[in-house]
Amino acid sequence: MAGKSTKKRTMACRVCKKLFFDSACPQHGESHMSDEWFGFLIIKDVENSIIAKQSGLKEKGEYAIKVR
Ligand SMILES: [Zn+2]
Repeated sequence: MAGKSTKKRTMACRVCKKLFFDSACPQHGESHMSDEWFGFLIIKDVENSIIAKQSGLKEKGEYAIKVR
């Protein structure tokens, strides 16, 4: 049926919601990676970010808002 996707796969970690490009989360490993994620969040300044505080994020980086 569907052929191989040429698109680079962006995977999100189910535990920390961080996004990774063609790699697994170094903290939680490949078993927690999911390609079914929604929304996109860039945290640049954790200290001064309301979104980071609300989401419980402690590290700057790129995050998925929802990971299935
Ligand atoms: Zn993780």
